[in-house]
Amino acid sequence: MGWRDEDGHLGEVVVSAERIAERVAELGKTITQDYQGLSPLLIGVLKGAFVFMTDLAREINLPVSVDFMAVSSYGDATKTSGVVRIIKDLDIDLVDRDVILVEDIIESGLTLRYLLHNLRSRNPRTLKVCTLLLKEGEQRELVTPDYVGFSIPREFVVGYGLDVAEKYRNLSYIARYRETL
Ligand code: 5GP
Repeated sequence: MGWRDEDGHLGEVVVSAERIAERVAELGKTITQDYQGLSPLLIGVLKGAFVFMTDLAREINLPVSVDFMAVSSYGDATKTSGVVRIIKDLDIDLVDRDVILVEDIIESGLTLRYLLHNLRSRNPRTLKVCTLLLKEGEQRELVTPDYVGFSIPREFVVGYGLDVAEKYRNLSYIARYRETL
C-alpha cells in the first residue's frame, strides 16, 4: 500500500511490493536449502534492514535466531565514508555460529566491509551476507554478497525500511527519491 506523499519527493516505483514478496520467498527457500540441519543466526543492520529481516526470517523454514546491530557511518547525507561507529552491539555470542548478515542496500560496500571485518573477529563458524538491494557499480570488487534480492541502478531509493530523514521506511515498495521538485 502507498500513502499520500505530501512533499512530492516520491518518484517511480523501482521494485513493487509483489516483486519484493516473491523474491524474499525465493531467498528464504534458498537459505533454507543451504543451511539444512543448521540453526543460522540472522543479524540485521538497523534501522534500514528491519522490514526485510522480519519478512525474510518468516520465509526461512529452519530454527533461526535473530539479533540486531545499529551503526552510524560518518559521511554526508547520501554517501558513506567507510568509518563506522557501532551504536548498538549484538546480544548473542557469535563463536561457532552460522551467521547471515542481513542488509537493506549495498552501495559503495564500505559499511559492509567494516561490518564483516568486525564480525569475523568474533569467530563465527561461517559468515555470509544477504542484501535486499545491490546498487550497480564499482562496489563488487570490494565485497560480494552471497544472496542478493535485486540489482538496481545507482539512484537514491526509499521504502521497505529505507529512509530519508526517518521518513518512508513503512512503504511496502521501493521507490526513487526525487531530491528536487
Ligand atoms: P555503502 O557503505 O555501501 O556505500 O552504503 C550503505 C548504506 O548507505 C546503507 O546501509 C544505507 O543506509 C545507505 N544508502 C545507500 N544507498 C541508499 C539509498 O539509495 N537509499 C537510502 N535510503 N539509503 C542508502
